[in-house]
Amino acid sequence: MKIKVCGMKHAQNIIDIGNTKPNYMGFIFYEPSPRDFQGDIPTLPESIEKVGVFVNSTIETVVEKVTLYQFQLVQLHGQEDVSFCQTLKKLLPAIKIIKVFSIGASYDFKQLASFEEIVDFFLFDTKGKLVGGNGVPFNWEILKQYPYNKPFFLSGGIGPDSTAAIKAIQKWQLPIHALDINSGFEDAPALKNKNNVKHFIEKIRNMNTPNYHVDENGYYGNFGGAFIPEMLYPNVENLRQEYLKIMQEPSFEEEFQNLLRDYVGRPSPLYFAKRLSAAYNTKIYLKREDLNHTGAHKINNTIGQILVAKKLGKKRIIAETGAGQHGVATATVCALMGIECIVYMGEVDIDRQAPNVARMKMLGAEVRPALSGSRTLKDATNEAIRDWINNPVDTHYIIGSAIGPHPYPDMVTRFQSLISEEIKAQLLEKEGTENPNYVIACIGGGSNAAGTFYHYLDREDVGIIAVEAAGKGVHSGESAATSQLGKEGIIHGCKTLLMQTNDGQITEPYSISAGLDYPGVGPMHAHLYETGRADFFAITDDHAMQAGMKLSKLEGIIPAIESAHAFAVLEQKKFQPNDVVVISLSGRGDKDLNTFINYFNL
Ligand SMILES: *Cc1c(COP(=O)(O)O)cnc(C)c1O
Repeated sequence: MKIKVCGMKHAQNIIDIGNTKPNYMGFIFYEPSPRDFQGDIPTLPESIEKVGVFVNSTIETVVEKVTLYQFQLVQLHGQEDVSFCQTLKKLLPAIKIIKVFSIGASYDFKQLASFEEIVDFFLFDTKGKLVGGNGVPFNWEILKQYPYNKPFFLSGGIGPDSTAAIKAIQKWQLPIHALDINSGFEDAPALKNKNNVKHFIEKIRNMNTPNYHVDENGYYGNFGGAFIPEMLYPNVENLRQEYLKIMQEPSFEEEFQNLLRDYVGRPSPLYFAKRLSAAYNTKIYLKREDLNHTGAHKINNTIGQILVAKKLGKKRIIAETGAGQHGVATATVCALMGIECIVYMGEVDIDRQAPNVARMKMLGAEVRPALSGSRTLKDATNEAIRDWINNPVDTHYIIGSAIGPHPYPDMVTRFQSLISEEIKAQLLEKEGTENPNYVIACIGGGSNAAGTFYHYLDREDVGIIAVEAAGKGVHSGESAATSQLGKEGIIHGCKTLLMQTNDGQITEPYSISAGLDYPGVGPMHAHLYETGRADFFAITDDHAMQAGMKLSKLEGIIPAIESAHAFAVLEQKKFQPNDVVVISLSGRGDKDLNTFINYFNL
């Protein structure tokens, strides 16, 4: 929706309002009005189109003013008829015409039929004593009966507080071209309040251009934020103030890039999967995060965070882990840097994930069991938070996915965003374009997905497909299909979609893959779901296992079971032969060998 500020009169006010960059500015030529315009129009930013507003003027007057003031549009506010509009179009073919109609308690839109072909826009205003500037809204419900596609300006009593009502009527899908604001923004007749206009324009523009990135308060739409115990506030606030500054320091950037190249083995290849592509009759590329050191994408984030921790002067690292993957990635970078590492892990998980526990110990980390509650991931997280509260000065808490209180989701997403940065360059080389038709990634907390989607969020021509674990079926009671089953709630310090009972208890999630077994999704993904920017698929254990087997047989690549979920989408959605589809192969399947053996009786 564009904005028109109408009824401008005083030179300085015109300049001030011009600086708020509305799309249109209106000048009224009607002597009885307190906003009647005389004199010169100061130079305005080029993006602003000027509108001459007339009330039953003669054609000659309109033509004269248009020529004098270089108006791009003419707004007709009186009883001008169709032939008046036709004559005007003939004399001034470049001019756009806005024809105004005043709406009373009811309205028959059929009367406008004969104008529809000739004018460029309608404008709907409140029926009142004055022409315009009455400051009273009409009943917008009447617009639900609007039968045309002709775009219109909405006017009548719009004020600084109208944004909620405007947001509400957007749902009706009317062709509202612009909002016409006037007396609702005035300190005195014809004197606009520039702050009110400025804020209104910002609010309307934000409403209309969806922002998929985090805002300055740590929100993605309705999701995100930092909901933390007060004791944790200093740590999180310190991180919030420093993380972007640190990440932009050249010395940070250099060390990060060097480690990614020489230690992690980046860039990871973008591999054209020929046999898989033939099997599904489309062009499939795999982003090979499985080839990273430690076998998955998680290392991108832990390298980034250990460098941030060092810059913050921290001497001790804590982390929580469920299946142990993030614990291993954290223990790895702590060994690399010679920094003390404590990993909290539920006692049940310690028993289930013996090889990863052994890895962490070999890497020099201390694995501390969480003995409370269900003795799984959420209890380990509680223990880690407790530790951080007790050690606020020397300790950094490395969170392993695009979750947690702000700034964690954004920080983790930025570290992982090198995945899509590389895809762009690699695809340009291979396909002559940076942009695939689709990117696909599995979602646990959402870090490999956030990194894979990041540089495509604002490219609406790139389809985004997010894949969750449906376990034994979305509605089986044993699943982790968060977006479909989840409701708004708070988990790990952020507001997001999360699986919970009616009284708000977090539901225990289930998936055959340990990395997707998480009751929430990162706030960015909750927002992508809510805005419809991403398509969400829920894939069962069985379909994921079959997809993992198929990839192994067709390409000689055994994927992590998490990643196998993303491949199962190929069975559920038909892609076109010319589509370029990039799938995030987030990790390798070595860690899942026992699960494959048991499932397939190998
Ligand atoms: C941990 C893990 C995931 C899930 O975590 P995200 O933060 O959602 O990426 C996916 N794949 C692999 C291989 C993992 O280890």
